[in-house]
Amino acid sequence: MDAAYDSSATPLGFTCANCEQNCCISHFQHHTYVEWAYFLHGLEQAAPELVARITENAHENVEAMQAALARGERPRVMCPVNVDGLCTIYKHRLMICRLHGVAHVLQRPDGRFVHYPGCPRFDALAAREPMAPGSNVRGPVIDRTPLYRELAAIEQTFLGAKAGKLPKVDCTLAEMIVQGKPF
Ligand code: SF4
Repeated sequence: MDAAYDSSATPLGFTCANCEQNCCISHFQHHTYVEWAYFLHGLEQAAPELVARITENAHENVEAMQAALARGERPRVMCPVNVDGLCTIYKHRLMICRLHGVAHVLQRPDGRFVHYPGCPRFDALAAREPMAPGSNVRGPVIDRTPLYRELAAIEQTFLGAKAGKLPKVDCTLAEMIVQGKPF
């Protein structure tokens, strides 16, 4: 995932540095047990003071998220792991954190590829690029399809005999931290 991201971001000089639209404030769920367990494995290795701060942030995040949802609003609450603008558990971050921002395609079950734009900063850089032959898209585009497939295979291996017997994962990172290890 990191290599795919870099193959797109590096040629454009795209970085998240000093971004005013910090995507760590976005409300998104994660969907695999293996990412959940891997992230908590990373969190366990952090300094105790940082773990305590992140855990407190996570509880506040879940409360604020639930309050926003109850008001019928889409939550915009900073990720509990983001401290002073930096991801403190960066090495163990989840899939969407690794891929967000760069333009991508995804192959649907009917075989069609659907194109998704990048974030506004990426798209502004991509707009300066020539149009790819036979396409109406400017700038690099990664294909998430093989990455999703590989993650699904890793999930199956990780779950082993539990595969298909557990509830579907649909949690924010803050909820994962509050709930603790998935099993
Ligand atoms: S895990 Fe890291 S990259 Fe992902 S939303 Fe949280 S702070 Fe941002």
